[in-house]
Amino acid sequence: MMQLELFERETIGADEMGRIFQEIRQAYWFLRNTRPGQYGDAKRRRLYRKIAFHKRRLLLAGAERVEILNMLSCYRLKCRCGTPHCKYFS
Ligand SMILES: [Zn+2]
Repeated sequence: MMQLELFERETIGADEMGRIFQEIRQAYWFLRNTRPGQYGDAKRRRLYRKIAFHKRRLLLAGAERVEILNMLSCYRLKCRCGTPHCKYFS
């Protein structure tokens, strides 16, 4: 009998990982530079969904939860790296 995998574990290569980080970074750039209510919020909502989607993918692929949260925090300009230069955002 075939066993059905409910969640197929995705492996994300370095290329793909870079692309995901880039997309999240761009999404936060837009969110930082617009205010709710400006031009309607459809795009902002879409970006938040996109970030959530990528975040879930990273978690499912086995990335460290803390690492991801730190990275997202840095992209919101609240760096938690604890080093003089941010690892994720320069
Ligand atoms: Zn940082």
